[in-house]
Amino acid sequence: MKNILIVGAGIVGICTSIELIKKGYSVTLMDPNEPGSQTSYGNAGVITDSSLMIINNPLLLKSLFQLIFKNQTSFRYSKSFIFSRLIWVLRFLMFSHKNHMKFAAKALRELQVLSLNTHKKLIKKTNSNNIISKPGWLKLFKTSESYEKYSLELEVLNKHKAKYTTLNKTQIEKQFPDLEVKFFKGILFKNSIRVKSPLKLSKKYFDYFIKSGGKFVQESCKDLQYIEDKWVIFSNKNKSYFDQVVVSTGPWSKNILSNLGYNIPLAWERGYHHHFSTKKKISINPAIYDVEGGFVYSSNGSDVRVTSGVELTFLDAVENEIQINESIQKLRKIIPLNKKLIDKPWLGSRPTIIDSLPMIGKAPKHKNLWFNFGHNHIGLSTSAGSAVIISEMIQNKKTSINADPFSPKRFSL
Ligand SMILES: Cc1cc2nc3c(=O)[nH]c(=O)nc-3n(C[C@H](O)[C@H](O)[C@H](O)COP(=O)(O)OP(=O)(O)OC[C@H]3O[C@@H](n4cnc5c(N)ncnc54)[C@H](O)[C@@H]3O)c2cc1C
Repeated sequence: MKNILIVGAGIVGICTSIELIKKGYSVTLMDPNEPGSQTSYGNAGVITDSSLMIINNPLLLKSLFQLIFKNQTSFRYSKSFIFSRLIWVLRFLMFSHKNHMKFAAKALRELQVLSLNTHKKLIKKTNSNNIISKPGWLKLFKTSESYEKYSLELEVLNKHKAKYTTLNKTQIEKQFPDLEVKFFKGILFKNSIRVKSPLKLSKKYFDYFIKSGGKFVQESCKDLQYIEDKWVIFSNKNKSYFDQVVVSTGPWSKNILSNLGYNIPLAWERGYHHHFSTKKKISINPAIYDVEGGFVYSSNGSDVRVTSGVELTFLDAVENEIQINESIQKLRKIIPLNKKLIDKPWLGSRPTIIDSLPMIGKAPKHKNLWFNFGHNHIGLSTSAGSAVIISEMIQNKKTSINADPFSPKRFSL
C-alpha cells in the first residue's frame, strides 16, 4: 500500500507529496503543467493562522441585496452561472449563519496553526527565507463605518486568541509612509508570512520533494479506475498502476471526480492579478487588503502585484477584466504605479465547497482514494497543514488536529 499517486501539483499536491515521502511512501506526482503554475501561482502570497472568517458568514446575508444589484469591485457574478448552479448558490447561502461561522472558525484556526508551523519548517528546510517577509498580512480601513463592520471578525479572532496589532492613523502613516492615502485603522496580523513569489515557493518545495526521492510525471490524468485492488491511471500518454491515489486538483477536482460518480459541491470564486512597476521604490512588507476597495496588493520594492476580489462564474468563462481594472484604478491613488509588467491580467479560480471548508479525507465510495482540495481563498495558508492530516489518515494514525469538519463524508456525494 506504499505506492501512491498524487494527482495535481499545486501547492496542496506538492505539500501532500512531501509529507507522504517523509513517511516512507513511494510518491509520484502527476500534472500536465509546471508544478505550482496554476491557482497557486497567482495568489496574494499570504500565509496566516488568522483567516478565520469564511465568506458565507452572517454579514453576507445582510449585504446580499447590495451584492446582487450593485456592481462592486470585491464581487461580481454571472447570471447564467447563478441560474445553472442555483442549488450550489442556495446551499452556499444556507451556511451563512452564526453557528456555522463559529464552527468553521474553530476548524480553520486549528488547521491554519498546524499549517503555519509546518510551512515555517518547510521554509527553513528549503532555504526559502529570502522569498518571505514577516509580518505578512495587513488589513486597512479608510472609514470608521467599515472598521465597525469588522467587529464581528474581531470577535472571532479574539475568541481564538489570534495575534494582531491594531494600528491607528498615525501609526499607519509612520510604519507605511509610501501610502499616499490616509487610513483610519489597520489590523496587522503578527503570525503571518508574505511569500514574495508563490511560484518560487512551490518550486522550492517541489525541488525538495524530488531531492527526497519523489517522482514527477508531466501528464494529464484522464481517467481513474479501481481494478483488482489497484488504481489504474489513464493519462494522456500512459497507463500506470498505484496502490493509493490522492486527488489534489484544486478547481478541476469536481470534473475529475465526476467520472467516478461523485457530485462534489464545488464552484469557482475566480480572481485576477496584475503587475506594475512603481514610480519610486517603496518599502511595504506585508500584503495589504484594502477593505473598502476589495482588493489586495503587495510590493517587492519596485513592483506591485494587485489581486482582485471574487468573480463567481464558470471555471472556463471568458475573462472579464472589469474588477481588476477597477482595483488598479483605486490602487493608483494609494501607490503611484508606472508600467505594466505583464501583458494581460492573470486569472485563477479559488475552488470553493458550499460550506467554505476544504475537503480533506477518505473518498466515501472507493477504497484507497483520498481527497485534498477545496481550499478556496486560503489554500496557500492551509496547504501544509492539510498535507499533514491527509498523510496521517493514509497511515491510519490519529490526526494532529480534529479533521472531522473537513471530512468528505459531511456531504452525500
Ligand atoms: C486572486 C487570488 C488570490 C489568492 N490569495 C491567496 C493568499 O494570499 N493566501 C492563500 O492562502 N490563498 C490565496 N488564494 C487561494 C490559493 O491560491 C488557492 O487556494 C490554492 O492555490 C489552491 O491550490 P491547489 O493546489 O488546490 O490548486 P492549484 O494550484 O490549481 O493546483 C491544482 C493542479 O491540478 C492540476 N490538474 C488539473 N487537472 C489535472 C489532471 N487531469 N491531471 C493532473 N493534474 C491536473 C493543475 O494543472 C494544477 O497544477 C488566492 C487565490 C486567488 C485566485
